[in-house]
Amino acid sequence: MLDIAVNRPALPPEIARRRTFAIISHPDAGKTTLTEKFLLFGGAIQMAGQVRAKGEARRTRSDFMQMEKDRGISVSASAMSFDYKKFRFNLVDTPGHSDFSEDTYRTLTAVDAAVMVIDGAKGVESQTQKLFEVCRLRDLPILTFCNKMDRESRDTFEIIDEIQEMLAIDVTPASWPIGQGRDFIGCYDILRDRLELMDRADRNKVAESIEINGLDDPKLAQHVPAHLLEQLHEELEMARALLPKLDPQAVLEGHMTPIWFGSAINSFGVKELMEGIGKYGPEPQVQSAEPRQISPDETKVSGFVFKVQANMDPKHRDRVAFVRLASGHFQRGMKLTHVRSKKPMAISSPVLFLASDRELAEEAWAGDIIGIPNHGQLRIGDTLTEGEALRVTGIPSFAPELLQGVRAGDPMKAKHLEKALMQFAEEGAAKVFKPMIGSGFIVGVVGALQFEVLASRIELEYGLPVRFDGSQFTSARWVSGDKVAMDKFVNANKQHIAHDHDGDVVYLTRLQWDIDRVIRDYPELKLTATKEMM
Ligand code: GDP
Repeated sequence: MLDIAVNRPALPPEIARRRTFAIISHPDAGKTTLTEKFLLFGGAIQMAGQVRAKGEARRTRSDFMQMEKDRGISVSASAMSFDYKKFRFNLVDTPGHSDFSEDTYRTLTAVDAAVMVIDGAKGVESQTQKLFEVCRLRDLPILTFCNKMDRESRDTFEIIDEIQEMLAIDVTPASWPIGQGRDFIGCYDILRDRLELMDRADRNKVAESIEINGLDDPKLAQHVPAHLLEQLHEELEMARALLPKLDPQAVLEGHMTPIWFGSAINSFGVKELMEGIGKYGPEPQVQSAEPRQISPDETKVSGFVFKVQANMDPKHRDRVAFVRLASGHFQRGMKLTHVRSKKPMAISSPVLFLASDRELAEEAWAGDIIGIPNHGQLRIGDTLTEGEALRVTGIPSFAPELLQGVRAGDPMKAKHLEKALMQFAEEGAAKVFKPMIGSGFIVGVVGALQFEVLASRIELEYGLPVRFDGSQFTSARWVSGDKVAMDKFVNANKQHIAHDHDGDVVYLTRLQWDIDRVIRDYPELKLTATKEMM
């Protein structure tokens, strides 16, 4: 989908200054800390520590999940905007746990780049690798931050080798660490020939930055102890001989990642990384769509929903649809066409996710993420335009791999349960099937932990204790095709038929043999394991 801006005319400056990205990392590598420092340097918060504090407050307000705290995982993704120098950054948060990959995958369809954070002592970990593979599917440009350099870390060459080997991407050092663990004093900024010295005494203080006139500058010796300086010379010489030089085009194409070394908690290396995202990260990119792709500089506004979140504010039973603007200059109050229903929608109270809190968006540009409160009309994958019937493509839907039955603890509350389940189905948090025969629902998910998440959300948000239990079915297939054949098929297989939250027909079974039989007996029908998001 990414179209590198080689032969394209320059984007309008407001769009060209936008960098929309996500952070990918293994839990504990430092994503939250880095985010916090981004916001600090972006002027969005005054003091480090606020993101976490805010996180807790938000959780009690709307984020519901005791589990989230207990297990230290974050379930709900959000978006944040902040400025740094001439750039506007839009950081889209990805949920950290591997079980919530559906959400994460979709989030990554809304960004133009990813920052990969690794722990200098641990290197590439399992979750980093998984998320990296998703980025690779879209050739997303990746910038790497090797964190926790204030602690005992692995050898610099070893870290770089590991990334190159495990992720099959060229790595080029943007900075080089000086000293190790307790002796770590800072980095040599290779791209700008500067010496950055870390201040251990004040964690929020930005490093002292000294301009250096090449590696032979005698100024180096004034700041770097002789044995470390000698080591730096040797290592940089080796790096020059062994590692590729920064090639901005290769970065934009996703074949090369520049790596910065730093320590998020000490605010060290963070500004250099931000500069790097600005300078080497991509501008808003062309979006694939049907029947034609959408270029960010088109004057007409278009965008697509990549996430829906309900109950962000428990006082309102509203949903917020997160929309990535694909083109144009959006202004509050605009009427956009909801392409799926062909209906106009006045976007009167869009929300911008400024780090301080939700704020009303007066305007937004291609590349930005806005939140649109709505009552359920907006679904994941929906496209909004100024009238043209465009449909954004490439937002994945996943086959439910685990099925369970669900019942309300109190049978009188079945209607409430239905409402809760429908809402989660719309959010894309689960697939929900209502069997034709019998009562109750069948819920399909991709990872087992999602059942627990759903159970606690239903209890917390709807006050409904629920029980999940085994289902006689293990596979679900959406059925589409000729109406006559469909009616005949449904009537002959009532025990296996259910409807999803859109009312579409789903065939449930536990035997592959059944599926094969249906395909053979009903050539007019099509069975699919996923449903196209639209
Ligand atoms: P996340 O799970 O990726 O969001 O990681 P966090 O940002 O919550 O960080 C995990 C732990 O590592 C926390 O205890 C942080 O204080 C700590 N941490 C983050 N950055 C650094 C760093 O640069 N150096 C050290 N020593 N610890 C760090």
